[in-house]
Amino acid sequence: MKRIIPALCAFMLLLVSIAYAQPPYGPPPQAPKDPIVDAIIKEATENSQLEKLGHELMDGIGPRLVGSPKMQQAHDWAVKKYTEWGIPARNEKWGEWRGWERGITHIDMVAPWVKSLSGQQLAWSPGTKGKTVTGDVVILPDFADSIAFQKWLPSVKGKFVLISMNQPTGRADDNWDKFGKKESIEKMKKERTDLTNAWNDRIRKTGKTTATLPVVLENAGAAGIVMSYWSRWSGSNKIFGARTKKVPTIDLMLEDYGLLYRLAESGSAPRISVRADSKETGVVPTFNTVAEIKGTEKPNEYVMLSAHFDSWDGGTGATDNGTGTLVMLEAMRILKKVYPNPKRTILVGHWGSEEQGLNGSRAFVEDHPEIVANLQALFNQDNGTGRVTNISGQGFLHAYEYITRWLTKVPNEYKEGLETRFPGSPGGGGSDFASFVAAGAPGFSLSSLSWDYGTFTWHTNLDTYDKIVFDDVRNNAILTAILVYQACEDPQKTSREKSVLPINPRTGEPGQWPEIRKPTRKGGLD
Ligand SMILES: [Zn+2]
Repeated sequence: MKRIIPALCAFMLLLVSIAYAQPPYGPPPQAPKDPIVDAIIKEATENSQLEKLGHELMDGIGPRLVGSPKMQQAHDWAVKKYTEWGIPARNEKWGEWRGWERGITHIDMVAPWVKSLSGQQLAWSPGTKGKTVTGDVVILPDFADSIAFQKWLPSVKGKFVLISMNQPTGRADDNWDKFGKKESIEKMKKERTDLTNAWNDRIRKTGKTTATLPVVLENAGAAGIVMSYWSRWSGSNKIFGARTKKVPTIDLMLEDYGLLYRLAESGSAPRISVRADSKETGVVPTFNTVAEIKGTEKPNEYVMLSAHFDSWDGGTGATDNGTGTLVMLEAMRILKKVYPNPKRTILVGHWGSEEQGLNGSRAFVEDHPEIVANLQALFNQDNGTGRVTNISGQGFLHAYEYITRWLTKVPNEYKEGLETRFPGSPGGGGSDFASFVAAGAPGFSLSSLSWDYGTFTWHTNLDTYDKIVFDDVRNNAILTAILVYQACEDPQKTSREKSVLPINPRTGEPGQWPEIRKPTRKGGLD
């Protein structure tokens, strides 16, 4: 042992000196010690509440469609959590929305054989009024023109109409890439493209669009609309809103939709039974949840945490935007515990109705000009469960100085792989930070690693608790808490000077800063 230890020590020393002997290629120097940073990390790692909060929100409450009772339940839950942590919180009304409550969807194939099918109503879909409705399944035919469509239309009476194309494969592209022959992959992709184009043509020839077709079919007496919005990930379908006003619109998993489609195509006369419950609950008020830790030196300057609270309701909104929500909740809890007397006021906004057009945050910007005018910085997270790997200066000329300064306080392991872009561009309306950027206030997006967000979980039925990568979310809570702490402590107020935006290649004109957009204060009623 005695001989091994000095040898080991010498070896370790060598490793350490190698690691630090290679600047600028080695790791950046470690952040200087800061007791508050240490306390943030300790609390986040030794007393994490993320799993518990995630379970309560995603499993205990569930999806949070704007105007649904679950959205309201979530707002009340968030206020209760903040109150338990000693942080004053409130639900601020910003508008009104069509109220709708999802009930059961039971779908069975009853002919030519029996199988329970996997699917659900779209959001805001009408139900079957307490009954089980049985009918033949027909495919939207390929008409010569809209006159032929109109002639066929009366025949849909009492039938369920399939309005999505039949996917040629239920395997994700990854799977093809792993096992398929190159020629087979190319053939499949070409077939899929051709089918997609042909299907778009088929819809166009009816003289309708995917948006208007369902209403025409229901007015002709269809029993229901059946579709399948496959997201190119096994088992994953995107679930948006229904267009029908009287009969249900249901989305089926690719496997079951393909089964019905092929049976209908081969003349095997499939029939399905559908029981869909849902409830219209009138026009309901909609809210943002806002919580606050008052500043001691500059209480009228603000640092904000930001994440939308609403979701689509195919899954439980776990990564869109349950994870952004968890980051902000946890960062607030930690900050209150280890940094209870910030120099500037810390605010968090859990926005309602991002999914229908950033309405909650746009309304907040409109309703609180005094906060927007005195905003030191806002940090928004809304692209899934991954570690934050990108922060852009969002077009603010001096963002480089302050964001870089704040980031030096973050220990390397919590900013691994993090890239910054300065001055960056203000960007479009991708998420709620854009509402603030449009108003000229320094709002930043904490942009994360994808974990196949776009195909796997974004707006899909598979956006559930089990997809959360808690280590990454914990990383983000630590990063956010440190950035907020630094933005609060910074002796300087952040500059809002805008950079000159690059020439727009489409127009040849200099790029324009995005304009402030009005929120929709009353929606979902048309
Ligand atoms: Zn989102």
